[in-house]
Amino acid sequence: MKSHAQVVVIGGGVVGVSVLYHLTKAGWKDVVLIERSELTSGSTWHAAGGFHTLNNDPQVAKLQSYTIDLYKEIEEISGQATGFHLTEGVFLAATPERLELLKVMQSQEKLLGIDTELLTPQEAEKILPLINPKEFLGALWTPMHGHLSPSDVTHAYAKAARIQGAEIYLRNRVTDLRATAEGGWEVISEEGVIHAEHVVNAGGLWAREVGRMVGLELPVLAMEHMYIITEDMPEVEEINRTTGKEVLHIVDPDGELYLRQERKGMLMGTYEKACVPWSPKETPWDFGHELLQEDLDRIAPSLEVGFRHFPAFEHTGIKQIINGPFTFAPDGNPLIGPVRGLKNFWCACGVMAGFSQGGGVGLALANWITEGDPGFDVWGMDVSRYGGWTTMAYTNAKVRENYSRRFQVRFPNEELTAARPLRTTPIYEKQKALNAVFGVSFGMEQALWYAPADMAPVEKITFLRSNAFEPIKAECLNVRNNVGLCDISSFAKYEITGPGAKQWLDTLLANSLPKAGRLALTPMLNQNGKLIGDFTVGTLSDEHFFIFGSGAAEQYHMRWFESHLPADNSVSIRAHGMGLLGLSIAGPRSRELLSMLTDEDASQSVFKFLDFRRLNLGMIPALVSRVTFTGDLGYEFWVKPEFHGRLWDDILEKGASFGIKPFGSRAMRSLSLEKSFGSWATEYRPIYGPYAAGLDRFVNLKKAEFIGREAAKKEKDDGPAKKLVTFTVDVNQCDVMGNEPIYKEGAIIGYVTSGMYAHYADRSVALGYIPTHLTGETSSGGFHIEIMGEMRPATVLSEPLFDPTASRMRG
Ligand SMILES: Cc1cc2nc3c(=O)[nH]c(=O)nc-3n(C[C@H](O)[C@H](O)[C@H](O)COP(=O)(O)OP(=O)(O)OC[C@H]3O[C@@H](n4cnc5c(N)ncnc54)[C@H](O)[C@@H]3O)c2cc1C
Repeated sequence: MKSHAQVVVIGGGVVGVSVLYHLTKAGWKDVVLIERSELTSGSTWHAAGGFHTLNNDPQVAKLQSYTIDLYKEIEEISGQATGFHLTEGVFLAATPERLELLKVMQSQEKLLGIDTELLTPQEAEKILPLINPKEFLGALWTPMHGHLSPSDVTHAYAKAARIQGAEIYLRNRVTDLRATAEGGWEVISEEGVIHAEHVVNAGGLWAREVGRMVGLELPVLAMEHMYIITEDMPEVEEINRTTGKEVLHIVDPDGELYLRQERKGMLMGTYEKACVPWSPKETPWDFGHELLQEDLDRIAPSLEVGFRHFPAFEHTGIKQIINGPFTFAPDGNPLIGPVRGLKNFWCACGVMAGFSQGGGVGLALANWITEGDPGFDVWGMDVSRYGGWTTMAYTNAKVRENYSRRFQVRFPNEELTAARPLRTTPIYEKQKALNAVFGVSFGMEQALWYAPADMAPVEKITFLRSNAFEPIKAECLNVRNNVGLCDISSFAKYEITGPGAKQWLDTLLANSLPKAGRLALTPMLNQNGKLIGDFTVGTLSDEHFFIFGSGAAEQYHMRWFESHLPADNSVSIRAHGMGLLGLSIAGPRSRELLSMLTDEDASQSVFKFLDFRRLNLGMIPALVSRVTFTGDLGYEFWVKPEFHGRLWDDILEKGASFGIKPFGSRAMRSLSLEKSFGSWATEYRPIYGPYAAGLDRFVNLKKAEFIGREAAKKEKDDGPAKKLVTFTVDVNQCDVMGNEPIYKEGAIIGYVTSGMYAHYADRSVALGYIPTHLTGETSSGGFHIEIMGEMRPATVLSEPLFDPTASRMRG
């Protein structure tokens, strides 16, 4: 065994070998993988081996598509067959809601360039005679669906990696990890110690144990999962004989079932509602190639549906029942990337669909390790999307919820309920008393909207406009015509201090820093000139700054900030989290209201747009920013948690004479869309540069140096290929939800990043990136957005719908 390596990958399941292969593909040869037992000794060996491209997040869907394309490549390099069968597949719909969802899925496949077909039950029966067409309302045929041999794929990756220079050590458990002073790791294993620059946790079922070696409690939990294999079925043989093909892959989400051919019979798996976590606290090291106790009773309700939906199963015997564990993160997406505070320690865990996603995960991680960047947008899988609040009990509740809902229709306005409420502000009960309907962001309850007194605070889940439509409209109108109050505590707030703070921030942020007492908006770029943050930065003095940004990205940003801190301790940074809470007032009467809250001069000439200062609001010491995301006249107040409740009460009391009303985050988004403001993780993502995103005026290329400057300059000089635009859409009771394809004269030219109804402007709005040469076509027509399978005419706006001269905001 080597004593030194650039990278040690821990774990020889399908994910670990994919990471190893991609490292060698990137040209890193001094890389090793250590496996406790034989390859595939975790969840990989007993997987059903199914794969497909479908995912709600187009970025994850792309990665799945990459994974499927990769199998040919590793077969060629390794000479090892993978058992790859591209059988094609059908997703079945037994309910009207599912049929609606199939239309959404069809649009998403179009974004990948994959042609699918919506079928009637009778058409579906023709290509899939196993179904009872009376049980279904329709089906979606997709070509990118199939299965493979889990063990062969793992060995193919491993052989290909070995051929390209990697070494693999089997039957050797990693027992501990120690950080070295040089920023690397001592990997302590049964066979000895390897000094590694980087360590990758691809421990699968033991990812938690490997995490604990470095003091991490990763939010992953294994669930028991069962599938059955039937005896041979004459119906299957008949299909094979008449079509000359295998039976199509089947996903029957309303039956919570997936099916595929297995030899001359069928394999049927289920994500049952009465799901059971496996070994919830720790995974025994001696667990290996054994299966778990089967429990037919638990999956009996699903199997009964299966017999109804696929009548041939009724008279077919079960040959084998497989019950095996595999891991999930709370939202079912993988956990990948570097870990905040642990230099050169990488995660490739929680991959619940290793055969659809493993290739993409390996590519992203190898890029990240070798190039410093995953190379595409992996936000939906980034380990940093979870924070210190994700305890084992939280993970347990969310993973069970996710598993039991695996096949359930997720409506765009649906808020999941498990593990809630968890993080609440001091005004939570007050908001509840005002009939707030809550959502959750980074584990924190936030008011989405407020139901009128005669309406229960419950949102009907739907693809169409819900009962929230009119109340949100009332909130928006009250802001624009009067004044509204919004809790903004979910924003991230960072405090930066120290003699080196100014210089450090100047190299980190793309805009110039504001003078003392002022704010500036600024993107943060990575070394490739792509957006990794959109912030408001406030200066109190040359050694004291605040940054405000997206709350959901707090760990993501802290990971970046901390890894770029100067070594001389001249800068300190602190994420306040819920240690600093916020309220915002917005609307034309907000200045009058502020002057009632403070004795100090709040007049226009004294407290100007983008001013930032300490103010006493009555008895409450606050930091106050003259800016709001509504794009209107307004203020943000930042206070310690003990003042939050009192400030809320004071504002409502003083604002009563103006008819002040609270508004939620949905109204906030509606208002900001009228100003064409983008948001983190939808419009502002590391696949776009600041010029594509229309943030030109917040990038100061005159600054001598900042991270990403050269790439940003190049983007400016060359001109971005795509640009962010705002559309108004001629909709039919259904606004965009995100990820809908955008067409120009029949051809897909982009997709919707976000949108909703802009209530004050009274128009349905969508944002999206389209080729730059089309952005000027504001009146020519020809644009369409496909919403729920319908082509809706859309028009590119040349200026924001609300206050294009910004006179309200600045006034
Ligand atoms: C019944 C069932 C059906 C499934 N069907 C499908 C399907 O159809 N399609 C699909 O895409 N996915 C399916 N899956 C999920 C799939 O199996 C997982 O996504 C995949 O196996 C995850 O691979 P992994 O490499 O992350 O983890 P694992 O396979 O668990 O591999 C981890 C490896 O790390 C090793 N290891 C851990 N700790 C150490 C250590 N300290 N030192 C050395 N080695 C260590 C282990 O021995 C193990 O070999 C199914 C799972 C089950 C259980």
